[in-house]
Amino acid sequence: MQTSLQHPSSRLAPLALGCAYFLMAALALASSRFEGGLAFIWGANALLMAYLLTSRAGAWPGALIVCGVASALSTALWGMGTLAAVPMAVINLLEAVIVALICRRFAPGGKFAGSMQRLFVFILALCGPANLIAGLAAATVASALTTVPFASSLLQWYTGHVLGGLTCTPILMMLMRGELRRWFGQTSRRGKWEALGLLLLFALATAFVFYAARYPLLFALLLPMVAIVFRLGNLGAAASVMILAMIGGMATMTGHGPLYMIPGTLGERMQFFQLFLAFSFLLSMPIAAELNSRRRLFQMLQESEARYRAIAENSGDVVLNISVGGVIEYASPAAAEQIGCAPELLIGQDAANLVDPADRDQVIATLERALDQPGEVQTVEFRPFISAQGSEWCEMVARAVVDERGLPTGVVSTIRDMSRHKARQRALQQVAALDSLTGADTRRAFLEKLEEEMLRVRHGARACLLLIDIDHFKAVNDCYGHGAGDRVLAGFVERLRPGLRGGDSIGRLGGEEFAILLSGTDVVRASMICERLREMVTAHPVQIDSGEVIPVTFSAGLVGLGSQSDAQAVLEAADKALYNAKHSGRNCLRLAA
Ligand code: GH3
Ligand code: MG
Ligand code: MG
Repeated sequence: MQTSLQHPSSRLAPLALGCAYFLMAALALASSRFEGGLAFIWGANALLMAYLLTSRAGAWPGALIVCGVASALSTALWGMGTLAAVPMAVINLLEAVIVALICRRFAPGGKFAGSMQRLFVFILALCGPANLIAGLAAATVASALTTVPFASSLLQWYTGHVLGGLTCTPILMMLMRGELRRWFGQTSRRGKWEALGLLLLFALATAFVFYAARYPLLFALLLPMVAIVFRLGNLGAAASVMILAMIGGMATMTGHGPLYMIPGTLGERMQFFQLFLAFSFLLSMPIAAELNSRRRLFQMLQESEARYRAIAENSGDVVLNISVGGVIEYASPAAAEQIGCAPELLIGQDAANLVDPADRDQVIATLERALDQPGEVQTVEFRPFISAQGSEWCEMVARAVVDERGLPTGVVSTIRDMSRHKARQRALQQVAALDSLTGADTRRAFLEKLEEEMLRVRHGARACLLLIDIDHFKAVNDCYGHGAGDRVLAGFVERLRPGLRGGDSIGRLGGEEFAILLSGTDVVRASMICERLREMVTAHPVQIDSGEVIPVTFSAGLVGLGSQSDAQAVLEAADKALYNAKHSGRNCLRLAA
């Protein structure tokens, strides 16, 4: 049956379910209609609920039909007769459907034996709406068709169904999910013997309490039950409740056991026994659920610990665990290579000692920020105080570790050598700032320098900007080709350079237009420099690959930095002067107005 029930899509499953339901219902009706009305024990619906909770909604109609038929048949044959058959079947299905719908809605996943929340949803659904609604309906039918009063019928239904559901549903669900088979596959031989031994002992203890003890020792069973839950988990909890139900139920029905010490009818004793079963269930299943989730948590923790350790120990970065007080508690093996200090020797040291005094405050502030804002990653760059590899810059990434209340217990940080990265960054910045053809500054880099120079001028310095445009350059391209034009542009800048001083800058603003920033220079001196540049360019014409020599001249506009609002205004003024130079016949310099 177990295998077929695990595959609700197979045709056999609903049929097997129907047969099992019929057997359980018939047994309950034949043996526990103590007062001639409803049965006192009802495990059949647990079967249907377990099935609904472990199968897809598509399998529900088939299951409901077969169980409905089984319920109607058993009621007609052994219960309240043919008149009650259909209503009782509908009421039974109603109970199971209400429980299944509520669990599906509020505890998706359905494996409620494994988690507290799901278990509670199941218990609430079963004890609340499902059996209140079904109980009222069933009591109405029973009080109409038998001599049993409404209130007694309601109590019989409620205890029978709630207690039957509580005790049997979890273990049936485990069976249907194949947990028992999985347990067999995964448990060692020793584990299986231990389980068998514990359950046997529990069975013996139960038999003793119900058949041999002279005193009402029901409570004595709770201790071994809890021990079994701790050792065997979910399955152990379910198995012990089942053992208790079978041995205790049989004893109570046949006139044995501690419940015979209370005065009352057999029905009342059976109800009392079911109450005891329900309490045993409510004691053991939540413990099993909690243990289960802790076990899962522990497993996840172990996996993450192993992952973290593997990363920390194989990483080229130094991993440090730092206490709330700033003391190193753990250092990864990379510390030996990066810092030049064995990890063990770093433990107990102040983390700030690894940092150059100039950057210590910043690093300490970063660690404090990490502690203040758990969950957020803080980053800081610093110069190390000691470094085995001569690192100039390191980067620390820090994050707080928190306890179960979310309070920080320390910081995990990784330290990476940033020297190479920084050097590469600097080199890239430099390359990006230079024009690839001529080696002059790019327009952007030049404008930045111009802005900086204007700031200095505002503080009293002197400077001039010379805007240069090669004359008739288009003709060079047209006569000798673009390659030759390029060669001339590069050669042009080469010829200008010797005429510049250390602090001067040359930039290519676009095409064959250049600008020279002459710092610490007034317009008169700048004019002289410009003339010297002109001479140098004229004296050394550029020779192209074909061997031909190309004479180059340029026109220039000169502006003194001073009153202009920004770099753009300076360029516009210089451009006007350059325009004048072009219009004055080229190869000459004009000053801005
Ligand atoms: P003007 O005396 O009025 O300045 O005449 P021009 O021919 O120099 O003026 P124009 O601005 O019309 O032409 C500039 C030419 O420069 C046009 C363009 O093809 C050329 N040029 C711009 N950038 C490059 C470059 O990177 N390489 C080469 N070979 N030519 C370029
Ligand atoms: Mg030109
Ligand atoms: Mg031009």
